[in-house]
Amino acid sequence: MAVITAAAWRENLDAGDISSEALVGASLARIRDLDGNYGAILARDEVRSLALARQADARLRAGERGPVLGLPVVLKDNLHWQGLPLTCGSRILGDYRAPYDATVVARLLAAGAVPVAKAAMDEFAMGSSGEFSAFGPTRNPWDPTRVPGGSSSGSAVAVAAGYAPLALGSDTGGSVRLPAAFCNVTALKPTYGGLSRHGLTAMASSLDQVGPLARSAEDLALAFQVMAGRDPLDSTSIDLPDLARLASLQPATLRGLRIGLPAEYFGEGLEPGVRACLEAAIRSFTDQGAEVQEVRLPHTHYAIDTYYLVCTSEVSSNLSRFDGVRYGSRVAADTLPALIAQTRDAGLGDEVKRRILLGTFCLSKGSYDAFYLKALKARTLITRDFQAAFAEVDVLLTPVSPGVAFPLGDRTQDPLAMYLADAFTVPTSLAGLPCLAMPAGLSTGLPVGIQLVGPICSDVRLLEIAHAFQSLTSHHLALPPEPPRSSHGL
Ligand code: GLN
Repeated sequence: MAVITAAAWRENLDAGDISSEALVGASLARIRDLDGNYGAILARDEVRSLALARQADARLRAGERGPVLGLPVVLKDNLHWQGLPLTCGSRILGDYRAPYDATVVARLLAAGAVPVAKAAMDEFAMGSSGEFSAFGPTRNPWDPTRVPGGSSSGSAVAVAAGYAPLALGSDTGGSVRLPAAFCNVTALKPTYGGLSRHGLTAMASSLDQVGPLARSAEDLALAFQVMAGRDPLDSTSIDLPDLARLASLQPATLRGLRIGLPAEYFGEGLEPGVRACLEAAIRSFTDQGAEVQEVRLPHTHYAIDTYYLVCTSEVSSNLSRFDGVRYGSRVAADTLPALIAQTRDAGLGDEVKRRILLGTFCLSKGSYDAFYLKALKARTLITRDFQAAFAEVDVLLTPVSPGVAFPLGDRTQDPLAMYLADAFTVPTSLAGLPCLAMPAGLSTGLPVGIQLVGPICSDVRLLEIAHAFQSLTSHHLALPPEPPRSSHGL
């Protein structure tokens, strides 16, 4: 049974046409049957998920209604779900189990959503392809010889392959948007602070955001409205405006909408098939009366360098907590420094080590001013570019990535090539802006995503604009080919 949209299941659950227990059971069965093909799932607790589904059914029978009540959801494995293993795709966490629920998970649970699995990811969310997990690569349902995009690889595959209509990922520099684009899924990277980070394992704290993934903007709205809102446990969290409009998401009026096309995002590196999908998407908007104009974001070419300086610096600090003393696995040694060094050497993968080394260097005496401080200044310039653009236009429309999903193994030996997949997603992260990635058609049989970017706190508006686009088009409903049932179920 392929899951279609959360909104459709919502209606079926409310009408009593299906129970949450049946829906969650189907979700678990699909994971068991199919995931041998993709490697998108790391852990499950079927007994617990089914018990939660029965609780949701009782609430439904008692007449309660709610946006996510009874709906299955898959959680990226850097989000704490109490009692379940939490690996972050790394060996260093060993058999660590989450001692509490992340705020977003707690809010979903309180609203009656049913977590069904923890999803695979690049180690500690560092990666763009889903290949940097200590537990093996994840594959793209559209073509299993290709990457699904990362780092929320398993979350995007879970939606694309119909394991669940909703998933949570995290996005530091593109990690829900890139896999969404590669797998034909819709995803929101909220305004920085829009969702609580409490219980999200930190990668780069000034950039990290939790982001929902689903088939449509309408489905994202179901999950987003129950998770958003200030959390005393995350001092950077904020109350976004207009959340009440999510209760019944209406398509935005496109007539008169001023759409900016940043010249820097439409340069030579863009694959022709991606460009064609973008042009078609732009026509869908202009046919409805939207106005398109070119804008300039002149500091864009500093974004990758800036991101990888800020990100690695914060990584070097955040990841120091994984030392074999308090969490997870430990390599015994005679002295404490040896214990820490050997535990980290054995427990962390190459990409994580590369970033810790680079970040430690950036923050060291002598390098701090030359690298880290300069990066912070460039970050301000990049942010100002966007502020200037939003004086002229309401929203920006860009590609998510210059190309479609690339073959597994293509970029694992070339960090720079891997980093360049994020060229269109990191600038907005540095500026803390809300971004929405959504399907815009296929190129050589593979999904192409477009990105909507709005000013700070325009998250609800972005969902409304995306909903308008998805009411006019059906790209988001295209499904990957149905795979063989896996011979070695989970
Ligand atoms: N691909 C980017 C990186 O490797 C972004 C990762 C993310 O958003 N978590 O840093």
